[in-house]
Amino acid sequence: MTVSPFSSHDLDFTDDDAFHEECGVVGIWTTQDAASLTTLGLHALQHRGQEASGIVTYDGNHFHTHRGLGLVGEVFADPRVIASLPGGIGIGHNRYATTGETQLRNVQPLYADFEFGGLAVAHNGNLTNAQLLKQSLVRRGCLFQSSTDSEVFIHLIAISLYTNVIDRFIDAIKQVQGAYSLVALSKDMLIAARDPLGVRPLILGKLPNSQDDNSWVVASESCALSSMGADFVRDIEPGEVIIIDNQGVRSINPFADHASSRFCIFEYVYFARPDTVIDNKSVYITRQKIGAELAKECHVDADVVVPVPDSGVPAAIGYAAASKIPFELGIIRSHYIGRTFIEPTDQIRNLGVKLKHSTNRAVIEGKRVILIDDSIVRGTTSKKIVEMVRAAGATEVHLRIASPPTRHSCFYGIDTPAEEKLLAHTHNIEQMCKLIGADSLGFVSNDGLYRALEEEKRNNEKPQYCDACFTGDYPISLTDHDMHLVKSK
Ligand code: SF4
Repeated sequence: MTVSPFSSHDLDFTDDDAFHEECGVVGIWTTQDAASLTTLGLHALQHRGQEASGIVTYDGNHFHTHRGLGLVGEVFADPRVIASLPGGIGIGHNRYATTGETQLRNVQPLYADFEFGGLAVAHNGNLTNAQLLKQSLVRRGCLFQSSTDSEVFIHLIAISLYTNVIDRFIDAIKQVQGAYSLVALSKDMLIAARDPLGVRPLILGKLPNSQDDNSWVVASESCALSSMGADFVRDIEPGEVIIIDNQGVRSINPFADHASSRFCIFEYVYFARPDTVIDNKSVYITRQKIGAELAKECHVDADVVVPVPDSGVPAAIGYAAASKIPFELGIIRSHYIGRTFIEPTDQIRNLGVKLKHSTNRAVIEGKRVILIDDSIVRGTTSKKIVEMVRAAGATEVHLRIASPPTRHSCFYGIDTPAEEKLLAHTHNIEQMCKLIGADSLGFVSNDGLYRALEEEKRNNEKPQYCDACFTGDYPISLTDHDMHLVKSK
């Protein structure tokens, strides 16, 4: 086993005013170079986690591991690293730490030796009863090597009384609560599983291979497939467990009686990459439709529609088309600033926003501007952006948000501040508008968001998606939180 001693990336000072996806996962079953393919997939999923990355492969005799802190391009920069990961089957993981601090011991995939052989596990999501399970596992003598809740899977598999890998794996996932898209690698199979409500995404793809028709990919998002030269096969269903081995792909659903799915609606709003397709819906087109709904619901006369880049762009295109107000790139984002750490004093925060975003005065000066952003977390960034647009000569600044007000924290794998730190939790829209300094502020409604997803409206009896950060309607028990076993941020 090899590990990289890369130092941790310092966080961007504005990172506390944005949501962060927790992780991205990839699994490969082929006869080719699994490490190179997995690295390409992890590159495409970099937006899902930038703090650490890791790959485990199996070459028919041994497992090989490389994990490091940093971006995929840094952790796997040295060609000797890929060369040290031989084998045609492997799994990989990008991490954004929400549970467990960013230390090498927390970087996934996690690997352990069992009586049946080695097993590597990588997980996207968040378990809501991890601490409770951990307490009972520690009482039974389990020694935890990391502080990530993903290690709970390893110990549950270890103590299971079932004999084969699949039965032990299913025994483990039946004891956890929460959101998980999971990949696991044993010496003779690749396993992929989604939680019973399918909160986080996971897809199956196929690698074209003239020598071997049994080459498969699993990944958090379909955008990873084109990087790996793979074709989309299908979304892995909520509650489904996929097993890939030398016989091909088989599927089982150990949660046959589970409730209907509650996929994370925020993946469509912000987290997923725009070129990803989830459940036959293009994320990019959905964001345009959200923008169109926003234009219908929160119309205001203005001269230009300006996105807050990059995530506000598709919704702004949709807003501009629906309102027939010209779209302009009035804010330019520097892609080369990196994640610079600056002490987060108020003065430096002001400077920081200007480092990352600059205004394009040519299309703003003397104009009534509609600014489109995907969400408001604490509001500090929105305030600075509005100030910048005014300073560039805008006569009016109207802020429109392509999601409903975020009033509640996420416990299912998205890093959000504690409720009391969310601006929409403590302020009404009028108060938020005043604090941000906009001339007006509007959010798309819950029903508008559902319409953009081709639903007539939110079904309040049986909601089609998880939208708990907007509604407070949590579809999975918050066991650790309710038992005060986890601390608020
Ligand atoms: S609470 Fe919000 S961010 Fe979290 S899974 Fe549900 S919709 Fe997604």
